[in-house]
Amino acid sequence: MFYHSTRNKGEVVDSRRAIVQGLSEDGGLFVSDALGATKIPLSALMTEDYLSLATRVLSVLLDDFSPEEIRDCVEKAYRGKFSSPAVTPVTELGEDWLLELYHGPTSAFKDLALCVLPHLMSRALEKTGQKVMIATATSGDTGKAALEGFKDVPNIGISVFYPEGKVSAVQRLQMVTQEGGNVAVAAVRGNFDDVQSAVKRLFLQGSGRSDVSLSSANSINIGRLAPQVVYYFDAYRQLVEKKVISLGDPVDFSVPTGNFGDVLAGYYAKLMGLPVRHLIVASNANNVLTDFLTTGVYDRRRAFEKTISPSMDILMSSNLERLLYYVSGQDTTFVADMMKALREDGVYRIPEAMLAEIRKTFRCGWADDEQTCRTIREVWDEDGVLIDTHTAVAVRVGRANKAEGAPLVVLSTASPYKFCRDVVFSIVDNAPDMGDDFAYMDALSGLTGTEPPRGLSGLKKMPERHTDVIDVDQMQAFVEAQMNRVYGEK
Ligand SMILES: *Cc1c(COP(=O)(O)O)cnc(C)c1O
Repeated sequence: MFYHSTRNKGEVVDSRRAIVQGLSEDGGLFVSDALGATKIPLSALMTEDYLSLATRVLSVLLDDFSPEEIRDCVEKAYRGKFSSPAVTPVTELGEDWLLELYHGPTSAFKDLALCVLPHLMSRALEKTGQKVMIATATSGDTGKAALEGFKDVPNIGISVFYPEGKVSAVQRLQMVTQEGGNVAVAAVRGNFDDVQSAVKRLFLQGSGRSDVSLSSANSINIGRLAPQVVYYFDAYRQLVEKKVISLGDPVDFSVPTGNFGDVLAGYYAKLMGLPVRHLIVASNANNVLTDFLTTGVYDRRRAFEKTISPSMDILMSSNLERLLYYVSGQDTTFVADMMKALREDGVYRIPEAMLAEIRKTFRCGWADDEQTCRTIREVWDEDGVLIDTHTAVAVRVGRANKAEGAPLVVLSTASPYKFCRDVVFSIVDNAPDMGDDFAYMDALSGLTGTEPPRGLSGLKKMPERHTDVIDVDQMQAFVEAQMNRVYGEK
């Protein structure tokens, strides 16, 4: 299974190289033409647990790693690290289903990929003697999950950049209190798109040192995307086990979407043989994807909205580029043209027939903050289930797109305690101002009889270590300083 850029087929690499490099040299994302050639047999699903299923799926997508290497990475990633023995349990949500992806060390779904990526990257580096500096843009959750995953991993350093004032208080605290000798974090003046674009520019410039290469922990990295395919298969297995469906029956998934990584993993699962009927792309007020999937026009020339689901506050959904590659019949010239138009004009339009093809699988919709709060309230009052602001967007849009013939599974991407302030204001009328977020955590716990994850309540006692606030044009110097600190001056 070889990988090349979405924008040209000239540079061909194996998955080890693709993971270490992150982004292709021309700025495109790594894709494989062999995706879908090997199916995961549904009959085999029922005898698998999460770890063996992960081994099976990753062995297909990253086939230059041996199954033993993959198994070792998966063991280290998941065994004992998740608070649920099922890793990603499927639970009831009224007549629908919730796929709980937030039981990892940092209480967001990013853990599913970022627990395993560092092990894959270490393995890939073993034979090369190379060192890596990870530079990552985060809209809130990737940052902490990546810091935790890469903390003190030999021969890898990590710099995380988040948009100042545009992540939740808990998300910020999770990052700025991070321990580890190889980590650095800075707030950047700007929004997520500014930060993500700057990080992509850093990759294209290179590290400036022969002994260190730059890489990414964002979902542009194929090593981030591949582990996310696993839980779609595992959710399906659980539904069969619960006798909600029989093997072979279709299922719909509703996915709270920002950078299009999570929902794209669902599309990969479909190509690999999972009977996925609809993938429902749920957006917040940054509804550029709703417009795209309705009209075929991707237009980022609009105001950036700060919402209560900050991890989805994104106008440049990077992974859409991979979908365009596959639905265009693997046409790199087409993708390169679209991305050039997006870069230069801020807008592109795909042909009618291509939109129709996409719409066979993808449904869409969006929810504003008020609708999101109302959904949290309804789901709590009527279904007795506590959900976070991102999940609420997907519940609302998923239910609005519900159709006969398949159960609806909503991906629940974060613990409600990560966004406790907005969740409390949603479930209580006229909640008073309680001060800091720890007061809201306690209130939420008292109101619902649930417990905050220990990783979050424990933040209260931790000192803030990373307090830099910089401009976009200082990011390169920040990464250089971090390389010098971790690997010595060159
Ligand atoms: C990152 C994130 C999303 C969006 O996922 P993408 O892969 O960027 O589409 C949704 N919800 C939460 C809680 C997240 O952290």
